[in-house]
Amino acid sequence: MAEFSLELNEDQLQLQKWIHEFGVDVIRPVAEEWDEREEFPWPVVEQAAQIGLYGWEFMAEAMLNDPTGLTMVVALEELFWADAGIGMAIMGSGLAAAGIMASATQEQLMEWVPQCYGTADDVKVGAFCASEPDAGSDVGGYRTRAVYDEATDEWVLNGTKAWITNGGIANVHVVVAVVDPELGSKGHASFVVPPGTKGLSQGQKYKKHGIRASHTAEVVLEDVRVPGRCLLGGKEKLDQRLARVREGKPGNAQAAMQTFEATRPAVGAQALGVARAAYEYSLEYAKERHAFGRPIIMNQAIAFMLADMATEIDATRLLIWRAAWLGKNGKFVNAEGSMAKLKAGRVATWVTERAIQILGGYGYTREYPVERWHRDAKIHDIFEGTEQIQQLVISRAISGLRIE
Ligand SMILES: Cc1cc2nc3c(=O)[nH]c(=O)nc-3n(C[C@H](O)[C@H](O)[C@H](O)COP(=O)(O)OP(=O)(O)OC[C@H]3O[C@@H](n4cnc5c(N)ncnc54)[C@H](O)[C@@H]3O)c2cc1C
Repeated sequence: MAEFSLELNEDQLQLQKWIHEFGVDVIRPVAEEWDEREEFPWPVVEQAAQIGLYGWEFMAEAMLNDPTGLTMVVALEELFWADAGIGMAIMGSGLAAAGIMASATQEQLMEWVPQCYGTADDVKVGAFCASEPDAGSDVGGYRTRAVYDEATDEWVLNGTKAWITNGGIANVHVVVAVVDPELGSKGHASFVVPPGTKGLSQGQKYKKHGIRASHTAEVVLEDVRVPGRCLLGGKEKLDQRLARVREGKPGNAQAAMQTFEATRPAVGAQALGVARAAYEYSLEYAKERHAFGRPIIMNQAIAFMLADMATEIDATRLLIWRAAWLGKNGKFVNAEGSMAKLKAGRVATWVTERAIQILGGYGYTREYPVERWHRDAKIHDIFEGTEQIQQLVISRAISGLRIE
């Protein structure tokens, strides 16, 4: 087990620099354009694939060969510092990969995770389809059904998934569906829908407030038939799990908690990148913009705002790094992953709003990037568990009570 340290190792420093340079040279110059177009930035993702930043090998290397847990959060902060919409386009397939990793056999993992990314010359994306129009936070409310057809050894999927990153444009869709409606959220299973499967289509594409370069759409499943081997984890394991639940035997809640908590620092790191971008920009602006014969930063009202922004950003990074390290070492106690994500979303939303304030009228226009960053920041209070869901998880962890 690696000691917790605030000093990044040589590999992490190099990675940070490498992504920063890609951000400055490739992402930032086109960030505004893709935000305006509201389209998936294929050419940028292809460039990321060419240098090895987009691909399953990158994800595997960053996650597996890192005893500190910090590599991924450092990478994400830097990528989202460059642009959150394009950052999400590059990282969105990771949601599908994580969905596969959560329950797949080794064989399934090797078959499907690479197909979520394609190759550098033929880039593909993956989608993780859990949320539904009537059930986001309330996972027990999912209605998408998967029914086993014993005669053909196929699963038949029907339902509609909502707000799906890369939904409909993905090569591989990972779908969470209800296999036993009587068991609520314990009666779910995950399925891979292979490329070109009949019956899966894209519903509406959402027009979003922020991260507009990331594609978000409904996924409609109409009598989608997938072979039995597409059930992640396999049928035998599913049947055993369902039997245990029906007998009222408790699942491994502690293991589940460690898994969910472990992904949250990464989302926090995305928010942190956006916050840092806005803080750095407004600090420079405040030194250059003159009012009443002096730079606006010479007013305590502005300088103190920046001091608070810097402090909040650093506090957030400490929470994220701690949570990333705890997650890597299976040491969560009080939902520290949720704490990091909760704090990061709020700080990003607040810092980017303050940045608009510091830029005044210019900050409110689309000529300057801070209004875009403010729009991009807000999603981090919503997806991967809303602010209130993080509070729920934390309050349950600190109290040991089933707070509703
Ligand atoms: C851009 C974007 C990308 C997304 N990508 C994906 C994706 O790739 N895959 C996927 O599966 N999903 C995705 N989502 C869905 C996202 O995870 C959900 O939007 C989120 O979980 C919230 O669910 P909801 O929108 O249904 O809100 P609701 O659950 O309806 O919540 C509405 C409000 O009520 C509050 N609330 C709900 N329950 C409680 C409670 N028990 N206590 C207190 N407050 C409560 C919430 O905090 C929120 O403020 C994405 C969403 C967006 C916007």
